[in-house]
Formats: sequence, structure tokens, C-alpha cells
Amino acid sequence: MNIRSYRRHIENLDKTHLWHPFTQMKEWTEESPLVITDGQGSFLKDMFGTWYIDGVSSLWVTVHGHKKKEIDDAVKSQIDRISHSTLLGLTHPPAAELAAMLTTIAPKGLSRVFYSDNGSTSVEIGLKMAFQYWQLKGDTRKTKFIFLNNSYHGDTLGAVSVGGIDLFHRIFSPLLFQSYKIPSPYCYRCELGKTYPSCRLFCLREAEKILKKYHRELAGLIIEPLMQGAGGMIASPPGYLKGIKRLCDKYDTLMIADEVATGFGRTGKMFACEHEHVRPDILCLAKGITGGYLPLAATVASEKIYRAFLGNYTELKTFFHGHTYTGNQLACAAAIANLNVFKKEKTLQKLQRKIEILKKELLKMSAFKHVGDIRQKGFMVGIELVKDKKTRERYPLKDNIGSRVCYAARKKGLIIRPLGNVIVVMPPLSISPRELKSLTRITAEAIKDITEY
Ligand SMILES: *Cc1c(COP(=O)(O)O)cnc(C)c1O
Repeated sequence: MNIRSYRRHIENLDKTHLWHPFTQMKEWTEESPLVITDGQGSFLKDMFGTWYIDGVSSLWVTVHGHKKKEIDDAVKSQIDRISHSTLLGLTHPPAAELAAMLTTIAPKGLSRVFYSDNGSTSVEIGLKMAFQYWQLKGDTRKTKFIFLNNSYHGDTLGAVSVGGIDLFHRIFSPLLFQSYKIPSPYCYRCELGKTYPSCRLFCLREAEKILKKYHRELAGLIIEPLMQGAGGMIASPPGYLKGIKRLCDKYDTLMIADEVATGFGRTGKMFACEHEHVRPDILCLAKGITGGYLPLAATVASEKIYRAFLGNYTELKTFFHGHTYTGNQLACAAAIANLNVFKKEKTLQKLQRKIEILKKELLKMSAFKHVGDIRQKGFMVGIELVKDKKTRERYPLKDNIGSRVCYAARKKGLIIRPLGNVIVVMPPLSISPRELKSLTRITAEAIKDITEY
């Protein structure tokens, strides 16, 4: 089969048998998909040999680039020994070694690693741990959770119950458990009608009202530290995260930090909590954990929480939860190699200069006629496009402005994906300054081409 007919064959199979995530399949089948076959560093290659910059790190996971030799080698050598054995009743070196490494780099006090295989399950586990913790402590009324408006914690039902994105979550509401919502620290569109910084973080006062009123029934509060990702790259103002932690402590509510997106260097530090010296009770990790290689997640708990679950088997204090592929060897081997590369290549140190370059490049776009707000935390960026810059009026849904900009970027050799009217830029941490400048140049051109035609 020549390459054209092989490509057509793949497209046919896809359109006949595949159901894509977060995708309107009617539109999908009317368009011709990009078929990716290879990757290298910051680039993806399609079937015809065209290379594209991977501007969203293959949905926020790629850290040191594609085909990173150290991670390739680690996975290959693990394959030569064994690919999977269970953690139920057995253990293995990669799971134990990685757990030790994770607790070493995690914020202080987090000492126990519970594995699963995706971000949503890491959140489910965090919620269930927090819930059971209070049951075991005898404070059986503490069963509910607080979440932020615009938050995204995954797509399983527990995670959706603490999700704050109406568009994704509303339809499932009859299936969800009741939770309490506090305002999103979305300064560009403050839902409390305030202006930063003169508001002096008024949203924290609103949060406190809820905590004060319901704390007797609160098991925990879940938050994406520093940056609400899928909700539209909403960056919280300085002091907000610390303020939330202070409230959790004051009202005896566990803090669950969902660092599925922000973890592993994304915001410029290994974990976003470090920016405000916050130590959560539970930390949820996934996306970047294997450097973007294999599905793996970890929920890291404090010793205090872990100890509450200890007892004789007949006391039934056991955490009855687990996934079949928990702590898979290949995934753990990839994760260990990923962390070793951070150390060996001084990834975080080298990242700082690139964050500044990115900031400077983004600044050039702030003058654009339809760029309303640019939000950046390290290598996590959202560019919010608006119909009217003065009134901050949104583009209507039917304009499909985000998708059109991303499509224009693709034609110029860059893969990015929008969140509604927000253009997301999340390059691999390993991207070179030159590649980074191409990325921002193409993004700028695509925004101009579509919004200022
Ligand atoms: C992506 C994401 C999740 C869900 O992770 P999956 O692996 O897609 O289940 C949860 N929380 C945050 C903050 C995320 O960005």
C-alpha cells in the first residue's frame, strides 16, 4: 500500500470505529484528521512527514520531549525483565523506588504514595481518603467537599461532583454527590464584581463564609494550585493559595491539591504549591509524572492521614480501593527516568530563562485588538480572546474562535488546542529558546490572521 492509500485506510478505520474524547464526532467525521506517526523532542510528525511543534505537550504531559533517550531506555530495559505484576499482595522495585522519590520531592509532610493510572482516579482516591479519614477519626459528619467554580478535576463521577465547569458537568448533575462551591479567583472576570488588587482578595472572604458555615460537615477542599487548567487557564493572584490553606487549617478541613496539570515543573517549580509554601494534606499527581510516556498517577497523603487507616484487619480500617494496573512497572520505570532527567539536566534551572523568554514573547500579543487577557504561570499559558477588548465581551460560541485560531496555527506547523475562547500554550519543558520563539510567532500570527482579518 502506498502512503496515501494507507493514510486513507487509517482515516476510514478511525471514522468507522473510533469515538474521540471531548469531540463532536459528527464534525470529526466531516473533516480530515491529522495522523501522527512519530515524535522527536518538541515535535510531532504526521503521516506525510510534515513536522509540527507540539505546543500543548500532547495534552499537558510531555516534559523532556518525545523519544527522550533516558526514558526510552528505562522502559525498554524494564520490558526485558517484566512489564506488569500486581501490587495486591506483591511489590516490585520500580513502585517502591518511585514512591521514595516522589515523597522526597513532594511538599513536606506528604509521605505515602497510592498509585493509580490517570488524573481522575488520583482525585477519586484523594476524595475517598479524605472521607474515610474523618469516618475513622469518629467525626462522621465530615463527609462533604468544597470546590472552586471553574475547577476541573477529571471526568469520573467523584471528580465531576467537585467539578465547576458547567458546560461539561451540568448534564450529569443527577448522578453527583452534593458539594459546596466557592468563587473562582478569575480576576479578569471577577464573579464578585471586584478589581484586583484593590479587592485585597475579597474572594477569600467569600470562601471563608462557606467554610465557616459548613465546616462541621466538611471533609476536604479540593483545589488546582495557582492555575485552574481546563476551566480556561485561570491564574490565581499571589497569596490566594496560601489564604485557602490558612482557611482549611482554621476550619479543620483537609486540603487536597490537584497538581495533575501543574505538577512536574509546569509552573516553574516542581509543584505549584511550592510557590506559596503550601503543604497540602493530599496531593494528586498524573499527567507529567512519566514525562508523557505511560498512564500513571499517584495520590500522595500525609502521614497523619495514612496512620488513621492502620489497625487490625477486623477493625475494617483498610482503604478498600485499587486499580488493576496500579503501580505498573513500565510506567513506574518511565517515571523514575523522568525524575532522573530533571536532576541530570537541571531542567527546572534551565526552565527559568525560557519562562522569561515566553513572558516577553507573550507581552507582544497583549496589544492585539482581540487579546483580552494573557495568563502565565511558568510554562502554563492561556490567551483569552475577546470580541470587544474594552467591554471584555466574549466571542459567541458559534464563532468557534479558539478552534479556528488553532487550525490556522496547524497550517503553519504548530499544534495547539483551545479551551473555548482561550488559546492554550503548554510546550514541553525541554523546548529550545528558538523553538519557543517559533511557537509564539506562529501563535501570534494565527491570532492576528483569524481575529483581525
Ligand atoms: C487532566 C486533569 C485531570 C484528569 O486527569 P485524567 O488523566 O485526564 O483523568 C484532573 N485534574 C486536573 C487538574 C487535570 O488537569
